[in-house]
Amino acid sequence: VDTADLAVVLVERSDPGVDVVPVASMGVRSLGLGTLRMNRVVVPAGRLVAGADGLTFAQRMLNARRLLLAAGLVGGMRALHEHCVEQLMSTHRYGAPLAELPSVQAALGRQLITVCTAEATLHDALPLLDTGLADPQFDTHLSAAKHAITEAAVGLGLSALRLLGGRGYLRGPAERFLRDACAMLSAAGAQDVLEIGLGLRAVTDRRPQAAPDPLDLAARRLALAEAAR
Ligand SMILES: Cc1cc2nc3c(=O)[nH]c(=O)nc-3n(C[C@H](O)[C@H](O)[C@H](O)COP(=O)(O)OP(=O)(O)OC[C@H]3O[C@@H](n4cnc5c(N)ncnc54)[C@H](O)[C@@H]3O)c2cc1C
Repeated sequence: VDTADLAVVLVERSDPGVDVVPVASMGVRSLGLGTLRMNRVVVPAGRLVAGADGLTFAQRMLNARRLLLAAGLVGGMRALHEHCVEQLMSTHRYGAPLAELPSVQAALGRQLITVCTAEATLHDALPLLDTGLADPQFDTHLSAAKHAITEAAVGLGLSALRLLGGRGYLRGPAERFLRDACAMLSAAGAQDVLEIGLGLRAVTDRRPQAAPDPLDLAARRLALAEAAR
């Protein structure tokens, strides 16, 4: 059936006309990122997963993944912070370890605050997935947590580069963490677009409840799904 709506179908890698082309990315290289190319692929009717409103279907999958992808960053943040502490304790300048300088200790303290806050944000949001209480289409709590953790992780990566001096810029834990963390700026909902989706939700949630206009509701749902894609 040819409609303007989006459908979801299952496509096998081995289907004629399907090509998965690896892409070279800045980080998360073990993820195996690739571009899916399809040329006149014929899909049997039995592979239809959702016949209508495919965007909502995809949104439901992304909504849960959004926080799970960010969760990996949180463990990496603590490891990077500990790496910085070890490095600065074993690097001697002016006859003493750099970690003895109060300004360096303050920077490590700010790192620890960032790590603890990210951990708290993650642990506060994860039960929403466990309990099934999350809004399956666009959960504000999960989306806000993904956004906050991503910004915190990128900030921590930059802080490590500053603290580790020239060694931070060499291939190693700080360099790799920063490359990986930057993936989440666009993955699972680009940060800027999430901000719009969250702001839109904040406004629509406070609007007086008028008689629901089906056309308006459909447009709002489409806008939210687009914004959080
Ligand atoms: C590590 C990683 C994993 C990924 N995994 C998947 C995956 O599994 N499946 C998949 O389908 N995709 C995946 N993606 C792609 C990802 O979903 C897109 O990169 C993301 O949705 C942004 O889309 P885009 O790259 O087309 O950016 P564009 O649409 O070109 O947008 C570029 C920038 O423009 C701005 N912008 C765009 N639209 C708006 C708007 N409406 N309002 C305001 N600002 C806007 C934002 O700042 C945005 O970052 C992945 C990306 C990465 C980096």
